[in-house]
Amino acid sequence: MSDKNDTIGIDDLPIREELKGQSPYGAPQLDVPVQLNTNENPYPLPEPLVARIAERVAEAARGLNRYPDRDAVELRTELARYLTRTGKHPVAAENVWAANGSNEVLQQLLQTFGGPGRTAIGFEPSYSMHSLIARGTGTGWIPGPRREDFTIDVEAAEEAIAEHRPDVVFVTSPNNPTGTAVEARVVERLYAAAQAARPSLVVVDEAYVEFSHRDSLLPLLEGRPHLVISRTMSKAFGAAGLRLGYLAAHPAVVDAVQLVRLPYHLSAVTQATALAALEHTDTLLGYVEQLKAERDRLVAELRAIGYEVTESDANFVQFGRFPDAHEAWKSILDRGVLVRDNGVPGRLRVTAGTPEENDAFLDAVRELKKEQNA
Ligand SMILES: *Cc1c(COP(=O)(O)O)cnc(C)c1O
Repeated sequence: MSDKNDTIGIDDLPIREELKGQSPYGAPQLDVPVQLNTNENPYPLPEPLVARIAERVAEAARGLNRYPDRDAVELRTELARYLTRTGKHPVAAENVWAANGSNEVLQQLLQTFGGPGRTAIGFEPSYSMHSLIARGTGTGWIPGPRREDFTIDVEAAEEAIAEHRPDVVFVTSPNNPTGTAVEARVVERLYAAAQAARPSLVVVDEAYVEFSHRDSLLPLLEGRPHLVISRTMSKAFGAAGLRLGYLAAHPAVVDAVQLVRLPYHLSAVTQATALAALEHTDTLLGYVEQLKAERDRLVAELRAIGYEVTESDANFVQFGRFPDAHEAWKSILDRGVLVRDNGVPGRLRVTAGTPEENDAFLDAVRELKKEQNA
């Protein structure tokens, strides 16, 4: 290539106008001893599960000359069984759809129910991928309100829905990055408001629900055909590298997303791996119990040190306040611990790691507090 071509950047390319000047999603992946910044599960998959994955993947490999099961029926059946067992609501395979991470599930939903000329609302601060996927699918984004204590103000949210009449409403429970869970009656009211306004699709992102003190909102699916519950194996199942997300909804919603999904989007290897992981659900949920205890310990100890901590139902904790969150983030990083600055003023987020990792984190923020008080 000539020198002239080398100076070409993204914005010199004929890309879509709304993508110009934007940056991709990304948490800094820095090489530090204690990484508590991406809400990953700190426990590697247990060896018996690793062996089972190898077995099932070998089986799948023998058929890789063929396309995979396009409808992932066996996997959806097992996911439905898991939801029924843990969610206090009967779910069948026809209620479930799966894709490469819940991000792909959300993208398929916005491709189907959002898109050019349509809008989606989310109550911020919340998961930044909701607005990024909206942008990627040409869906207009409406940042909705939240209270000072990071809970959803139902009246304000109802007003925003009535005013903007969005096609898609996102509710994240437990919410990322704040950790706050949403009560069932809040979702009931937002659903009613969304139906009165348009009607629109209401998506409850339950990526962290296994870590919650509260039950899943799955029972709300009863009699609500425009409600979707989105889930993932990235957090509680400790399988972020697998890329497996799924949803539960009325069968018509499952039929609708098939209009936009790429054929054979879920590889035979992915389906086999996810099925193996689901065979070990009980072991994996055992780790979740340990992480919940560690999360509760982080909340208690951070408060004892003197930080302000947001109630958490997730595998992470939001804490502050800092006069300058980014400065505090750097000071903690200098002590060998990577946490997340999500851009929430005065606050940082720490993922619950192993007890040793959490101790290292607590030591770092204890020192930081002393320094600030000095
Ligand atoms: C981590 C996370 C996800 C998970 O996305 P995957 O694509 O399944 O890895 C979804 N929603 C929220 C709110 C998250 O924080």
